Amino acid sequence: MTTDLDLQNYIRNIPDFPKPGILFRDITPMLASPEAFQQAIDLLAEEYKDQGVTAIVSAEARGFIFAAPLALALKARFIPVRKPGKLPFDTHSFHYELEYGTDTLEMHTDALEPGDRVLLLDDLLATGGTMGACIQMTEKAEATVVGCAFVIELCGLNGRRNLRGKDVFTLIEYP
Ligand code: IMP
Repeated sequence: MTTDLDLQNYIRNIPDFPKPGILFRDITPMLASPEAFQQAIDLLAEEYKDQGVTAIVSAEARGFIFAAPLALALKARFIPVRKPGKLPFDTHSFHYELEYGTDTLEMHTDALEPGDRVLLLDDLLATGGTMGACIQMTEKAEATVVGCAFVIELCGLNGRRNLRGKDVFTLIEYP
C-alpha cells in the first residue's frame, strides 16, 4: 500500500440523479485519481489475497471498472455478468425482483465450474438485488462464493439482507 487517503473524499454526491429524491454517489473522482483508485484496488486485493479466489464475477457496468484490475491483482479470472443480449456465447439467464418489476442478468454457460472460489464485486450495494442475483448465478454453477465486496455500501437500505448470509467487505459506508 502506497497511500492512506480517505476514499470518501473521492466520492461526489449528486442530488436528484437519475431522478428526483435520489442522492447518487458518483465514483468518477476516484477513477480520476490514480492514487485513490490504486488504493481501492490494493485494499480489496489485501482483503482477499489469501482466500484462494479463482474468479471474480461482476455485473455491468461500473462493477467492471474495479473487477478487471482486481482480477489481475489476484491472478483470478474476470467473469462479466451482463444485461440480456449482450454476451455473445451461450448464456444462463437469471431473473430477479426489483422494487417495481423484475430485471434479468446473464452469464456465459462456460464461465464458472464446480470448485471455483468466486469473489463477487460491485461498485455499490444499495438494495442488494444485483448482488443477490450474482450470488444465485454463481451457486447455480456449483461454484463457491468466497464473499461479496463493494466500494460503497448504502447501509440504510439494508442490502445485506438479500446477500444470503455471505461475507461482505466494503471500503466506504454511508449511513
Ligand atoms: P442494488 O441492486 O439495489 O443493490 O443496486 C446496486 C447497483 O445499482 C450497482 O450495480 C450500482 O452500480 C447501481 N447504483 C445504485 N445506486 C447507485 C449510486 O448512488 N451510485 C452508483 N451506482 C449506483
